[in-house]
Amino acid sequence: MVGIGIHTGNALRGYEIGKMARERGAFVVFGGIHATLYSEEALNLGGAHAVVKGDGDVIWAAVLADCAKGTPKSLYLGGKIEASDFLPARWELVPRNSYMWASVQTVRGCPKHCSFCSVWRTDGQRPRQRSTDSVIEEIVQLRRLGFRFIALADDNFYPVTLTDIELAMRQGDTHRIEELRSIRAERFDLMARLALLPPDTVLYTQITMEAAEDPSFLEAMRKANIKGALVGVESVTPEGLKDVFKDFNLAGDNLVERLRTFRRHDIHVLGSFIFGLPSDRPQTFEATAAVAQRAQITFAQFVMLTPFPGTVDFAKWEKSVGSEIQSVGGVPITRPWLIPHSRRPKMYWPHPAMSADEIRQRTQAVWDRFYSLKFIWQRSRFLKTLRSRLAFILISKIYRQMYADTGIATDSARLARSTRWARWLAKPCQHLFAGRPMPQLQVPL
Ligand code: SF4
Repeated sequence: MVGIGIHTGNALRGYEIGKMARERGAFVVFGGIHATLYSEEALNLGGAHAVVKGDGDVIWAAVLADCAKGTPKSLYLGGKIEASDFLPARWELVPRNSYMWASVQTVRGCPKHCSFCSVWRTDGQRPRQRSTDSVIEEIVQLRRLGFRFIALADDNFYPVTLTDIELAMRQGDTHRIEELRSIRAERFDLMARLALLPPDTVLYTQITMEAAEDPSFLEAMRKANIKGALVGVESVTPEGLKDVFKDFNLAGDNLVERLRTFRRHDIHVLGSFIFGLPSDRPQTFEATAAVAQRAQITFAQFVMLTPFPGTVDFAKWEKSVGSEIQSVGGVPITRPWLIPHSRRPKMYWPHPAMSADEIRQRTQAVWDRFYSLKFIWQRSRFLKTLRSRLAFILISKIYRQMYADTGIATDSARLARSTRWARWLAKPCQHLFAGRPMPQLQVPL
């Protein structure tokens, strides 16, 4: 049996692998966000015998049993299960040397509703938080196997903000206050236990910027060895934030100050910015590059606005295309993930002020500037030794190579070159990330 989890970005490759596996006689089962949204596609194009929609943790046992009998159903509905039913991964089956880091999920779902994001629609807006015991046990198992870098692969590691609690208090909603406080208390409990793991553990996660209003939370993260967080900054202007329904973020100097707060608690930020928003103008690129530099963020990614399936943006875009849908190589442009990468449109909406090419070039220039040797070297100042600073340069360059070119490159030769380069650089990095196996490590109580 071959199980393939896909998101929109790797769906096409997943389908290729699915077809190959089926030709060689395997039962092929697809799951993941994209298969949940477009189950027919995996059946028609990916050689799938079956597709699991929604959470796979519980329904997987039924899929296995049916395949063992030789009678898989074409569709299994996993739904949204409760956190107590989430299953830890079977890490002992993973070839240790093929991975730089491992990932563990502690909470599914996000209460926000950003227009470009599908998480709140597919995983739901109610945070489903795993018990501290099960998360810690999984992380300890990873440390026993020699994984030192572990991503807490959450939709939003800070699911309850202080503002949420204040709001519930103002509304006098006692049940809600209790619920929110208990989620928050469990987060602190988890972080207190993480703090007892070996001190060379490096954890990182995804979080909203609101966490910076909450010094006690950031302090707990620091003690828990959560050393990095992806923060969706998206835009540096209030108009841009409104464009993506993310006006809980800050702009301008307040934004710089807020991002620096993470750094003051020793949390390194990977800032994520979006270009091509309707309110963006040529000067927005320069302003964003300047904010990224001033805000002392350690890494940054600059992506072009793309409507992904399952998002509010996608629904709006698909509707705007109308009934006369163009196609590329026989694939309608409303299914861009099925178009080979090099021929895929890079911009979806006509922009009110700039051409697609201008946005692409300006985006590329911001990547080039942020990851120039001069700026990487400046950013590496927090490291004490020359060796660590050189390692930081290497990692920054890999990151830039893996994401900058793959996102916006227009020709396939450049894309292939950049993937090869990133792979080649990744090899020496494997040693930097690996930890000593600790088979005797006990679960901290
Ligand atoms: S972008 Fe982040 S904050 Fe917004 S809905 Fe998605 S996970 Fe939540």
